[in-house]
Amino acid sequence: MDDIIQLVNGKLVVPDTPIIPFIEGDGIGKDITEPTQRVINAAVTAAYGGSRKLVWMEVLAGEKAFKATGNYLPEETLDAFRTYRIGIKGPLQTPVGEGIRSLTVALRQTLDLYVCLRPIRWFKGVPSPIRYPELVDMHIFRENTEDIYAGIEYMTGTEKALKFRDFLINEMGVDKIRFPETSSFGVKPVSKEGSERLIRSAIEYAIGRKLPSVTLVHKGNIMKFTEGAFKNWGYDLAETEFGAQTFTWRQYQKLEKEKSQADANKALQSAKNEGKVIIKDVITDAFLQESLLHPFDYSVIATMNLNGDYISDQLAAMVGGIGISPGANINYSGGYAIFEATHGTAPNIAGTGKANPGSLILSGVMMLEYLGWYEAAEHVYDALEHTFAKRRVTSDLFSMMEGATLLTTSGFADEIINNMH
Ligand code: NAD
Repeated sequence: MDDIIQLVNGKLVVPDTPIIPFIEGDGIGKDITEPTQRVINAAVTAAYGGSRKLVWMEVLAGEKAFKATGNYLPEETLDAFRTYRIGIKGPLQTPVGEGIRSLTVALRQTLDLYVCLRPIRWFKGVPSPIRYPELVDMHIFRENTEDIYAGIEYMTGTEKALKFRDFLINEMGVDKIRFPETSSFGVKPVSKEGSERLIRSAIEYAIGRKLPSVTLVHKGNIMKFTEGAFKNWGYDLAETEFGAQTFTWRQYQKLEKEKSQADANKALQSAKNEGKVIIKDVITDAFLQESLLHPFDYSVIATMNLNGDYISDQLAAMVGGIGISPGANINYSGGYAIFEATHGTAPNIAGTGKANPGSLILSGVMMLEYLGWYEAAEHVYDALEHTFAKRRVTSDLFSMMEGATLLTTSGFADEIINNMH
């Protein structure tokens, strides 16, 4: 019991030697897991001497689990994450013909990890396609359990698709299906509870880290009752639950309409002076453009599942791509979290020493921060900065950096450890 992370009165209680379940993962998972653990262990030792230590405990999923147990996602693995609360995973290949869409999605849904958190920051020296990458500091809160990821889809021509079509036309009076004879259908559930818990987490995160704004990204101009409702529920929640700590764009517009633009600007300025978090919204397509042109206008992003998927990849590309993009799947209510690289199993480079372990290492750093072990996290950030400054990198970044030295997956981890002061 001593080594188990607990949640007491809504706060994590972390022992000095917590047990951390980990899934090695398929493909390059095997290549990047051990180097990641080496870097994280070195940072913990550098920060705390021997007084704190992570106790890694392997749990099985994916191919390795199938070979050992005949099951891709054994119940013992889910139980381990339920018991130990916080863990980390490598990428998992989607099994073919098993009726499972994705093991990662199954893990998120089974454990109700409703936030997919992806921080986007740039490290000096890393090639970027944008002009001022040093101004990028964004934190994506992507809803992880709803939206079209619920998987409610009917293929054209099937009995269910025909039944669904007839229901829409005959019972709901729908007359806008352009080609009813050949249409497939998908359903997009977006709930008030699901939206609120995601947006609440994003606002609490912004307040806790003293970040300037939370932007609700949605396509509510077209999908009024799902994405539009997400925006409205977000504004309602900010004003009712966080009234003293936030100022919303909706309040600004109300003041502008009822009083004057000068009054609205004054209120906005004083909210900023008081350190309140500004809650605003933007339509998804505009956000994809705006975040490239004016990334410094955005801090925390709260959005639904599919938007979050697109946005994560675009923002990751702005700061160096998939090899250094960390992520976490979190249920803040229960304290549960699984940290993971955002990339897949990269079968084309598995076993070649070409994989960049940066994404999993940075996911490990997010885990250290989640545990409250900030000093250890800082050691990795510092060492990574030194490593990039020396242009000693894996093949994904090597091809884009002039005068760089090529390192293997394991060599890159060694270099980070050597640069740890
Ligand atoms: P992928 O991310 O595995 O690969 C896309 C490209 O990026 C490839 O060229 C690959 O070599 C490169 N790449 C990925 N990670 C890299 C790294 N760390 N260093 C250097 N280069 C890297 O995406 P994919 O090919 O579409 O998917 C392969 C498999 O992974 C599929 O079975 C998919 O279902 C699975 N997948 C799993 C997860 C997850 O577990 N979270 C996420 C995405 C995809």
